[in-house]
Amino acid sequence: MPIKPTSKRLLPSIEPGGMESSSAQEILSWGIKNFHPRLALSASFGAPEGMALLDMMHQIEPTSRVFVLDTGRLHPASYDLVDHIRDRYDKAVEVILPDAQDVQEMVNERGMNLFYESVESRQLCCRLRKVEPMRRYVQDLDAYVSGLRRAQNLNRENTPKVELDVAAGGLMKLNPLADWTREQVMDYVAEHNVPINRLHKEGFPSVGCQPCTRAVKPGESERSGRWWWEEDGDEECGLHLPDEQEGGSGI
Ligand code: SF4
Repeated sequence: MPIKPTSKRLLPSIEPGGMESSSAQEILSWGIKNFHPRLALSASFGAPEGMALLDMMHQIEPTSRVFVLDTGRLHPASYDLVDHIRDRYDKAVEVILPDAQDVQEMVNERGMNLFYESVESRQLCCRLRKVEPMRRYVQDLDAYVSGLRRAQNLNRENTPKVELDVAAGGLMKLNPLADWTREQVMDYVAEHNVPINRLHKEGFPSVGCQPCTRAVKPGESERSGRWWWEEDGDEECGLHLPDEQEGGSGI
């Protein structure tokens, strides 16, 4: 997969450890300076990290961009938050839909709720509703921002603050909150009065698609409410896994 020219030029700045001492705001300022308007925030509208980043980016550049992958199965609370953010920041949230024919064929062949049947079926659904639409969308970007944090699960414990995302098309991926704790994120949104998903108050630390997310009990990990029925799942949809970890189905 070729590396995008802007990313190639900036590769020396992100040599291992090159951006690790930078704050979240410094990384976003660097990203906006080098990539805007070909930079966008990937926000699920189901996690406070994305909302904190949206607020930070908006303070730096009011025309900064944000997109959401609308799988068609998001929780109504997440759709409400999209509209709330649109009004509060006067920002056009870019809504990315899956390919209708792909989804139609999948549900016709395997059923509406195929994800409960096997890890492979769940990964197929995530691939068609999330991973492929995301990869099509980022083809027109030079960089994107994610709310990944190292403490969220084992798959994310080595997340760098800035990396080259080869699987998504050779563009830069900024993870400004990589070393933040959940408490720091919640403090930020409280201090800055940033709107967040109302389900966080009802025991959902992370809100994904409605049929695939449930509240967690005190002491359970942040992402344990995602695909909770899977014993051998990885609590990931494939968006943030390199190709070699995506398995035979492409996830
Ligand atoms: Fe499909 Fe569930 Fe993945 Fe959403 S989270 S894309 S409904 S399997």
